Amino acid sequence: MKKTKIIATVWPATESEENLVKMYNAGVNIVRFNFSHATFDGARPIADRIKKLNSEGKTNLSLLLDTKGPEIRTGIVENKINLVAGNTVKIVVDASKRWVEDIYCDYEYLLEDIKVGETIIIDSGLCNVKVLEIHGDYLIGEVLNSCVIGSKRHINLPWVRLKLPGITDKDKEDVLFAIENNYDFIAMSFVRNKENIAELRELLAENNASHIKIISKVENQEAIENLEEIVMHSDGVMVARGDLGIEVPIEKLPFYQKEIANLCLKNGKFFIIATHLLETMIENPFPTRAEVSDIYNSVIASADCTMLSGETTTGKYPIEAITMMSKVIIETEKSIQNPHNNFCNEGLNSRDIEKKALIRHSISIAEELDAKAIIILTKTGLLARLAAAFRPNIDVYAFTKNDTSVNYMNILYAIKPLLLPNWTNDYLSNVENAIATLKSKGLLSSQDKIIAVTDIQKDGNEFPIIEIIEVK
Ligand code: PEP
Repeated sequence: MKKTKIIATVWPATESEENLVKMYNAGVNIVRFNFSHATFDGARPIADRIKKLNSEGKTNLSLLLDTKGPEIRTGIVENKINLVAGNTVKIVVDASKRWVEDIYCDYEYLLEDIKVGETIIIDSGLCNVKVLEIHGDYLIGEVLNSCVIGSKRHINLPWVRLKLPGITDKDKEDVLFAIENNYDFIAMSFVRNKENIAELRELLAENNASHIKIISKVENQEAIENLEEIVMHSDGVMVARGDLGIEVPIEKLPFYQKEIANLCLKNGKFFIIATHLLETMIENPFPTRAEVSDIYNSVIASADCTMLSGETTTGKYPIEAITMMSKVIIETEKSIQNPHNNFCNEGLNSRDIEKKALIRHSISIAEELDAKAIIILTKTGLLARLAAAFRPNIDVYAFTKNDTSVNYMNILYAIKPLLLPNWTNDYLSNVENAIATLKSKGLLSSQDKIIAVTDIQKDGNEFPIIEIIEVK
């Protein structure tokens, strides 16, 4: 059983029932829908298919909606614009003032926010323009590399504090779609500060969907500057290396990846390393040495999840890519002995802090006694989150009474979530049921030693306890 989870982006290569089951069997835990491209009509039947497969016990997959986020683009052009290195180009923010060879930028504050000497990045770095002069309704820039620009190309302004909304109207509609269709996670694109996250939390709360976890995608310079507050206010964080690698000098990317990982571990938040882990497998059945090393290093860095994007959407070898990722993860995990570092109590109430102490010691006890597994009984998944944050070295089975918690726990390091259908308020019978379930699946045998962590009822209150059990 691998501890590091896999997120795979779905569709078009992977939308069939058969392929979804294959993806799950190859090691996928979470299915991501990228709403930079996805449509409601396309996504709905696939989400329904996954829920059906989950209910039939053929898969256990959670749903993640990745928003498009606020973004800046060039305009629509009839003929592509040819830019030659060393020449100048005019950039306008009023489409009606654009001449054939000018570039339109849809960020209305460009001329007041950008400074002479800064660089405008167009089409993911394909074209860079250095600002030379700023005028009333246009700017003049020097083309740094020859390129051809088509319609609606992405523009990045790494040094500008953008006056863009945290959640665009499209994002709002997409979040409402996620709520209606029982998604488990929203990955918020281009998060810049804690206010952006608060806005999304409010939208979820207003729609009775506070259970949906927020993953902040760190993908620009401003997010790096506000990293600490972003980590603290998010449920989890994604190192969105695709855009981050455009927005920051690329040689700094590994440092930022490490910094994000450290901050998440320090704050007990789950984190995902995304993009280009197996990029060449979009076209080839076999990865490069560098890609395999990248997965190894992501696991060594203690990521909760690694993510696949194009590899499982337009790629020619989606299942092979997942299988490869699982193989590298499993091989890497054999060499890991996690130290169970402590993490801060920020955001935990006094009862959560008691649970945290209890779970930390249950992990130490389990490892000292060479127990087969830890069993957790949890309603919301909080105990599992705390356990995952300590990075246990042994298997943790987290039983719960609702699908929402199962789906949440799917993203957490080392946690194997399971539904306990006959959940009662009686602690003893829940533990007995949990053990019976694991025995029936062949995951436990008689005489195995396990550690159970749960709450017991006493005088109308719940108290967390640890028990050492020898399986009968
Ligand atoms: C990324 O930029 O790495 C990323 C995951 O975001 P997207 O695929 O939505 O651009």
